[in-house]
Amino acid sequence: MNDELYSIRMRASRGGTHISGAERIIPARDIGRVAVELVGRAKNHGRGRPDSITVTVDCLSGREFRKLATLPITSLNAEDHAGGRELAVFELIRAGVSEKAARTALESILRGASPDGGNMRGAMVVDAATGERLETDRSRGVRARAVDYAGDAVPEILAALEVAGLGSVHVREALALATKVAGAPGAVAELCISDDPGYLTGYAASQKNGYVRITPLKEDGGLYGGRAFFVDADRFDMDEYLRYMRETPVLVTGPIRVNHV
Ligand code: AMP
Repeated sequence: MNDELYSIRMRASRGGTHISGAERIIPARDIGRVAVELVGRAKNHGRGRPDSITVTVDCLSGREFRKLATLPITSLNAEDHAGGRELAVFELIRAGVSEKAARTALESILRGASPDGGNMRGAMVVDAATGERLETDRSRGVRARAVDYAGDAVPEILAALEVAGLGSVHVREALALATKVAGAPGAVAELCISDDPGYLTGYAASQKNGYVRITPLKEDGGLYGGRAFFVDADRFDMDEYLRYMRETPVLVTGPIRVNHV
């Protein structure tokens, strides 16, 4: 069955600046429909209208697939974005990140972590103990690719997210990505702040504590966002890590588990 699966990726930009991206893993028969869906999304993004949209389709036959169970979901609310950021730091520390590393990464994201002062295209990779950035390209960072829900699990997962009031495409995609990132060799935790100015919820995720959504994590209209992947430098090898992030297709399975706090 895996031989028939394809990765389909959309990337939209304006004047060379990244606006949005998305990826799915689908059978050949769905390529046309999903391509139309992804282009439609690219044209309607909070960061503006793109002047370039690229859709790439790659056959995944011969790749070694991994199946991972979705991280359990917790939703936390704060009074304001300052409170949300304190919750994020607390969650990262609980997952094994030092306070220094958590605060340094958070501050870098909020002032534009790319050397040009804008958002990175991918994630920074951060030593969970020291806060040192390990990615070689600080503008591109590391992008996690090749992840989606396992086809036969999709209806049940979408229905369960809907019932939990978490049916948005943001949550669906972020949960799958966070599950892949948390399963990486050497992973400790992840911090995500959306770069969509209208989407104020972010998350701290880890294998240990699951996918913890935090609202709000940024101020309304804020253009800065990004991701930090925290790793344990003692059990980390960059080549192995990049291979997993970019090339190993991960299919995420249910059931959806929601923690009530
Ligand atoms: P988003 O959640 O789509 O608003 O993305 C927020 C930020 O996360 C972006 O500005 C990127 O820096 C980063 N990012 C988005 N997608 C990925 C990905 N697939 N892998 C790593 N980082 C990503």
